Amino acid sequence: MNENENITSDFIRDIITEDVKNGKNESRVHTRFPPEPNGYLHIGHAKSICLNFGVANQFNGKCNLRFDDTNPSREEVEYVESIKEDIKWLGWDWEDRLFFASDYFDSLYEYAVKLINDGKAYVDDLNAEQIREYRGTLTEPGKESPHRVRSIEENLDLFEKMRVGEFDDGAKVLRAKIDMASPNLNMRDPVLYRILRATHHRTGDKWCIYPMYDWAHGQSDSLEGITHSLCDISFEDHRPLYDWFIDQLGVHHPQQIEFARLNISFTVLSKRKLRLLVEQNLVTGWDDSRMPTLSGLRRRGYTPESIRNFCDKIGVAKRESIVDAALLEHCLREDLNLRAKRVMAVLDPLKVVIDNYPENQTEELEAINNPENEADGTRMVPFSREIYIERDDFMEDPPKKFFRLAPGREIRLKHAYFITCNEVIKNENGEIIELHCTYDPASKGGASPDGRKVKGTLHWVSVEHAVDAEIHLYDRLFVKENPLEDEDFISNLNQNSHEILNGCKLEPSLAEAKPGELFQFMRQGYFVVDSKDSGSDKKVFNRTVGLRDSWAKMQNK
Ligand code: ATP
Ligand code: MG
Repeated sequence: MNENENITSDFIRDIITEDVKNGKNESRVHTRFPPEPNGYLHIGHAKSICLNFGVANQFNGKCNLRFDDTNPSREEVEYVESIKEDIKWLGWDWEDRLFFASDYFDSLYEYAVKLINDGKAYVDDLNAEQIREYRGTLTEPGKESPHRVRSIEENLDLFEKMRVGEFDDGAKVLRAKIDMASPNLNMRDPVLYRILRATHHRTGDKWCIYPMYDWAHGQSDSLEGITHSLCDISFEDHRPLYDWFIDQLGVHHPQQIEFARLNISFTVLSKRKLRLLVEQNLVTGWDDSRMPTLSGLRRRGYTPESIRNFCDKIGVAKRESIVDAALLEHCLREDLNLRAKRVMAVLDPLKVVIDNYPENQTEELEAINNPENEADGTRMVPFSREIYIERDDFMEDPPKKFFRLAPGREIRLKHAYFITCNEVIKNENGEIIELHCTYDPASKGGASPDGRKVKGTLHWVSVEHAVDAEIHLYDRLFVKENPLEDEDFISNLNQNSHEILNGCKLEPSLAEAKPGELFQFMRQGYFVVDSKDSGSDKKVFNRTVGLRDSWAKMQNK
């Protein structure tokens, strides 16, 4: 299938379609995804990745991966590697086009010299605080620095001295000479270079001056021959500067187009804020199963297909909004429904003894792996005299609407038999510890022998054959739909977002389950084998998502 057929157009694709039609850039389409390696990617980045790579794919173009590594004090190789892994996992390929802004440090330096030569840049001695003061505000024009009038020769000389390390960190900066009265603060003589003695992960100690983001970004786009530079709306006010630099240099001019950032309810999508959670040990790491990072979602059991489908569904627009977390879960369920094997697992076991079933007998009963997908076939599940059922599938004194097991009542055990409860055994504290039942041998496979009906069908696991497991349940990371509503967003963390269940009992086929493998535990939800904590000695599962689809429900109203 051509996956482009599923893509609905949006304002960006409309612009590109026009550009291609009009022969702009010789009808080439070349995009890029430009992450700063200062944290792990989150699902907001997935929106940008799917847009940039998706557009390139759709228009037979190319998409580069370019790390914006202009800030050596914050960046780490670990982040570069994780970002590459996440993009590949999502299913996109930058082929041989892996770049770093630091690849262009020499060119950027030469470009800066050209600006100085053209009288468009100057070395300033004001410190950071003074520059901020001189910049003015939205309602007041800025003030020109006393050093703005320096001669071209002096600027060339000072800039060279900045480069070779003659000045202390922060002692001087190179600034563009634009307009201190511009209504756009970004145009008030922005800083192009700062002095910073920090070892860079790629260029080592070669440089002690580093370009600012705005200076590096557009020129890197231009050098790579990018045609459409797609970025989020926070860069809208930077576009005049993006255009100004390129116009002054007279180089290839990509078109910057902004789109709305993705926000999702009950979480935050900002590397800086997610990093706070990691650093303060409020989560177990960047790949904590509650995190909206791609590594967290992967560990939780999200599939790349579900995330790409989600990105297609939300589309691309200019206006920011908060997308309902239920939509993301809906996309996941749609995918897992087709691919996850249905198996039986008892999370909170209650023992049931079937008194009329022969002792020491085991029967292998056939179970369908996935009714949604016949090709998945069947497997055998062992049944014996003692089984576990879910504790809350039994009530001694049930209300009217309770259709599961109760004294004197008959129910079906999935794939197995009809059983009737005859006796309830309690401990000295009055807690139920065991049920005694009888089964109807004529109901093998769970089929009614004589047309009599039972209201409930329960999942179960044979005691003798059960595999022990630890199961992790998760809830939303924050209690507020928009956690950033309050300045102290951390105070909105959900204190009950992680629950660990011990002593869970799984059907024996799950002994072979591999890290990352996904299942539907009947009536309980979708679960994944944890990729870090699950081993041969201990099985650990994460609940990926419950079965109830509140998004589909809302749509059908
Ligand atoms: P963060 O605030 O999370 O660090 P960022 O914009 O600083 O985000 P970058 O690494 O600079 O992170 O982002 C790389 C690309 O991803 C940018 O083009 C940016 O526009 C895009 N991006 C980041 N967050 C989102 C989001 N929530 N929705 C859509 N695109 C995003
Ligand atoms: Mg950034």
